[in-house]
Amino acid sequence: MGHRLPNHNGLCKNVHGHGYEAHVILDGHVDATGMVMDYFDLKTMVQPIIDELDHCFMVDESDVVMKEFFASHPMKVVELNAPTTAENIASYLVKRISTQFPENHNVTRLTVRVFETEKTYAETTKQLTIRN
Ligand SMILES: [Zn+2]
Repeated sequence: MGHRLPNHNGLCKNVHGHGYEAHVILDGHVDATGMVMDYFDLKTMVQPIIDELDHCFMVDESDVVMKEFFASHPMKVVELNAPTTAENIASYLVKRISTQFPENHNVTRLTVRVFETEKTYAETTKQLTIRN
């Protein structure tokens, strides 16, 4: 995914990209099936969101330079209402994923960890209320 941080004082103000990796971590109660949540169900929730981001350019909605460029050069773009840092991407994913849980679930906490490189990541956690 491509991005840039237009107000950054270093190289990150330039257009560049990362082979991002996102870890989705669930805490919760193990039910009679022996699981907090079936991996298949989690993947069904998360994969469409990842597909939206794969090979897109994530643009900060206040970045008028890039928004003008994409207005005349249509490409796969996802807009964020904040700088496209790993922290804000993790928050974006937590918000998106937390709305996807089914009516009944056993999850008490959702954490998303976004790696920009093998060693550097940011994570966001949201407490959830069990519904079953
Ligand atoms: Zn970057």
